[in-house]
Amino acid sequence: MNLKEKNISKLIMFLPIVSVIITSLLIISVAIFSINQTFEKQKQEITKKFMQNLKSTTKEKVNLAYVIVDALYKENLKIYKDREKAKNVTFKNFPIFFDNFRWPKKGYIFMFSIKNKGVTVYHINHKFMKINRWNLVRHGQKIIQMITNAAIKHPDGTYVKYLAYNPDGKPQDKISYVKVYKPLDILIGAGVYLNYLDKDLLQLQKQANELLNNLIKKFIIISFISLILFSIIVFFLSKEAQQLFVRYENEIQKEKNKFKKKAYFDNLTGLYTRYGAKKEFAKIKKELDANNKKTAILFIDLDHFKEINDSLGHKVGDEILKVIAGRLKKCVTIKDKVVRFGGDEFIIILNEIKDEKEIKELVEKILLVIKFAINIDNVNFYVSASIGITIYPDDSNDFETLIRFADSAMYEAKERGKDRYMFFKKEIGKAVDDKLKLKTEIRKAIEKDEFEIYFQPQIDKNEKVYGAEVLIRWNNPEKGIISPFHFIPLAIEAGIIDKIDLWVIEEAIKQHIKWQEKGYYPILSCNITVYQLEKGIFADNLKKLLHKYNFDAKYLNIEVTEEGVMKNPELSIKILNEVNDLGVKINIDDFGTGYSSFAYLKKLPVNKLKIDREFIKDIPDDKDDEVITKSLISLAKNMNLQSVAEGVENQEQLDFVLSNGCDYIQGYFYSPPIPASEFEEKFLKSN
Ligand code: C2E
Ligand code: MG
Ligand code: MG
Repeated sequence: MNLKEKNISKLIMFLPIVSVIITSLLIISVAIFSINQTFEKQKQEITKKFMQNLKSTTKEKVNLAYVIVDALYKENLKIYKDREKAKNVTFKNFPIFFDNFRWPKKGYIFMFSIKNKGVTVYHINHKFMKINRWNLVRHGQKIIQMITNAAIKHPDGTYVKYLAYNPDGKPQDKISYVKVYKPLDILIGAGVYLNYLDKDLLQLQKQANELLNNLIKKFIIISFISLILFSIIVFFLSKEAQQLFVRYENEIQKEKNKFKKKAYFDNLTGLYTRYGAKKEFAKIKKELDANNKKTAILFIDLDHFKEINDSLGHKVGDEILKVIAGRLKKCVTIKDKVVRFGGDEFIIILNEIKDEKEIKELVEKILLVIKFAINIDNVNFYVSASIGITIYPDDSNDFETLIRFADSAMYEAKERGKDRYMFFKKEIGKAVDDKLKLKTEIRKAIEKDEFEIYFQPQIDKNEKVYGAEVLIRWNNPEKGIISPFHFIPLAIEAGIIDKIDLWVIEEAIKQHIKWQEKGYYPILSCNITVYQLEKGIFADNLKKLLHKYNFDAKYLNIEVTEEGVMKNPELSIKILNEVNDLGVKINIDDFGTGYSSFAYLKKLPVNKLKIDREFIKDIPDDKDDEVITKSLISLAKNMNLQSVAEGVENQEQLDFVLSNGCDYIQGYFYSPPIPASEFEEKFLKSN
């Protein structure tokens, strides 16, 4: 169990215990509060009752005493017939009657003379009957005076509260009921000490406290038991929860590992990914730096892989990649890292290197091994690769930069004819940077109005001008005129070739309209890079253009290279059919080099085949080229297509193609591509 899990289980134990304690405390406080509340209520009730009781008892007793005194006096008056005599006898009789006239809480009757102020006529304590207590002071109160004055003021009875000494000799609050008995000029009173109330209340308090104590004790016991029970339950629950957590943690860890593995290793080949490569390089770098050693990074890109993938499908492509991955791994040691960088790009990060010779030997071995036949479903496939090499730390010590450099070197190897390797050199970096710069510039070239169209005449076999091929030129402010051979691939990479192609067509239409006004109607052939176009969209845009200028589609031809069509034959066929449906004719450009499959060729809506300049240029010296050219012309005838010979530069070439039945001629023999005005001057006016 790790620390985290321990803490979790502690937490699980701790929480219910805390909650039990808190609930117990809460219940106890509520109990104390409610007991206090009832105690207060009871106290008030007891006090009220006591008071009521006190009043009724004392009053009752005094009234009874009054009746007794009255009866006694009247009896004595009957007997003695003398008021004074009867009065004295009555006074003397009082102890007989009232010494035993007692009731609970030590109640008794007292009587004071009103006439002889301070004289006690009767008191349970006989000694008070012998002294005058008129000026008796208790805690600043002249109590005899208070009682007497109250009685005089309310002769029919009143209550008086004052401080007195109770029979135990302690000063206590006392309430007495007093009433005047006129015939004897005395007041009769009886009182009660309030400490009896305190006693009652104390009793009550004691009961409440006992109740409370009992309650708390019970609560503590119940809380304690439930705490133990809780703890036991929680202990087992937490065990269970712990196991759950552990399982959960393990699962998360497993998922994490899976993710890590996914990020780190390529699904298809099992090689390191780009991410994995970066991490592995960081490790290798540390060791190299510590030991002052060098290494190399190889950037390997398969040649023509895209075509293989497009024509044979991804499944075959993936199989080939797997085989290559396996071969690469076998070429290096376990310490070297083989990476699938993306698509058909691989990287090898060598663990360390001694010298350049060692790298060269390894790279040559890799180039060779890649070329071995790859057998998939009993069919042999052959691929080659181009490799760029960069050295750490000589070229750079930053991984991304090294990769970029190796990539540039690989690119250079491709430019030089593929199936070879190149070490990175500063100049290569510069060339690649230049290319990148141009790529950004070409994006803005349309808006900056840097493009221009040229026209190269196409002449028919009767030497009549049939039309012109429209060829784009880029007037780069720094580099001057750049050939489309150079910038079309850039425009493709920059993803703007569709825009450029449409721009050329629109310019051609505009130019044609100007010529129409002068009575010239040449057929204009515009080039498009068909496999870069999006189905549906290109034909739509073309249709819009034709509408916009109300342009007759019969004056427009579209040229697509054979190689371009074959890069994605299915897509090309769809797009070209859409174009053909608009009434625009289609020519296959650079025919003879693109390894066309006749199956596809038959499906294409083609009008003309343009025989590639490669076959024309060495006529009449190269007899093979003559044979090929001848058969390409007759192939066109057999397929009911017209043929155009491209790059005709001299009379022999012209005679050869015409004598073999070629329909149209294009080439420097007549003219290189020229601006519109020149074309008009030289070829439209004279025609
Ligand atoms: P392409 O369509 O095969 O055009 C013919 C190329 O051969 C033109 O090169 C032309 O100047 C050249 N040429 C014609 N006759 C002769 C000759 O007798 N001798 C020699 N040495 N060359 C000759 P350019 O204008 O440099 O165009 C190169 C390629 O760029 C074109 O080949 C075409 O594939 C592409 N391209 C040109 N304009 C466009 C365009 O607007 N869109 C697209 N997608 N591609 C274009
Ligand atoms: Mg062309
Ligand atoms: Mg061509």
